[in-house]
Amino acid sequence: MLKRCGRRLLLALAGALLACLLVLTADPPPPPVPAERGRRALRSLAGPAGAAPAPGLEAAAAPVALAREVHSLSEYFSLLTRARRDARPPPGGAPRPADGPRQPPAESLAPHDVFIAVKTTRKFHRARLDLLLETWISRHKEMTFIFTDGDDEALARRTAPPSLPGNVVNTNCSAAHSRQALSCKMAVEYDHFIESGRKWFCHVDDDNYVNVRALLRLLAGYPHTQDVYIGKPSLDRPIQATERVSENKMRPVHFWFATGGAGFCISRGLALKMSPWARGHFMSTAERIRLPDDCTIGYIVEALLGVPLIRSGLFHSHLENLQQVPASELHEQVTLSYGMFESKRNAIHMKGPFSVEADPSRFRSIHCHLYPDTPWCPHSAVF
Ligand code: UDP
Ligand code: MN
Repeated sequence: MLKRCGRRLLLALAGALLACLLVLTADPPPPPVPAERGRRALRSLAGPAGAAPAPGLEAAAAPVALAREVHSLSEYFSLLTRARRDARPPPGGAPRPADGPRQPPAESLAPHDVFIAVKTTRKFHRARLDLLLETWISRHKEMTFIFTDGDDEALARRTAPPSLPGNVVNTNCSAAHSRQALSCKMAVEYDHFIESGRKWFCHVDDDNYVNVRALLRLLAGYPHTQDVYIGKPSLDRPIQATERVSENKMRPVHFWFATGGAGFCISRGLALKMSPWARGHFMSTAERIRLPDDCTIGYIVEALLGVPLIRSGLFHSHLENLQQVPASELHEQVTLSYGMFESKRNAIHMKGPFSVEADPSRFRSIHCHLYPDTPWCPHSAVF
């Protein structure tokens, strides 16, 4: 009898081992994020001005540490369980479809319903922000809030009522491109949005052009009371990080995130659900995964709340080739950008009233294309 039980136990154990092996081979962990595509996040990790990370940060900050570290089978199974619970595609599998068919309006949306946070820094007030104030912000003053890190008399004068409703917030965050400084600004943006009572939170960088009409059309397709996180990832697979769960316990975690440089939006319904990790805790949540602000948003939404990112091809950062955005489809695009891509100047390719020398970002030409009645747009312009 004892012998038979022993044999059964042995058989059961062998069966379980075989099942484990099958799961492991059928559903392999995603490969690490390629350094090239993850540049923005990884560069941000390098600390101020791309310097080496501060002592103590290097373990999670170095790109190699983003690679999956599975210390035990149980850790691996808990990750698989979570991935399935979130109803995501298999790790490393095909990305979720972008956009899908255009949705009929779920609710009518007025400009005042949307809170657009523009992240900037003192040294870019002249170099970048003035161009935005001249172009898209000038048309959407009541929606736009500027988050910076230093006082600036010229900016204050330019944005004072009645010209702008004074929507400039000095975050008092450090003027550095470190992940802590960037998370500090995102935390202030989030708090201001919650206090505003508006329906939608959108974040953009100061090198983004926002086509507000297209933005309103897009957001009107979703109810703001439901869980909506929409934007464009810059990686082609979920980012892999190590999450600190207690004083001496780390575990791997992977999730999609919308790159901050392309802009993204979050519904009020979802933003309120994020509050246990975001309201007054955003910086400590960012510290748990030691990744920059936009990754932290993805971590809270996808990994902690189980809400999948809605991918939209209408958001654009300079981490993609902007020349591929057809000038004929500018009306539909929600955000545009300019900057560098693979060490080359990267901007929208379009003929317009301004030469590339006079308008290297192409934002002035784009603005005249979208708002031809703008007084400073040449009237004889041919597009
Ligand atoms: N930024 C900042 N502090 C800095 C440098 C940049 O807040 O010291 C902001 C900048 O204003 C922009 C965003 O961070 O909104 C991204 O900066 P940038 O476009 O220079 O870098 P990217 O990450 O896009 O390469
Ligand atoms: Mn940028």
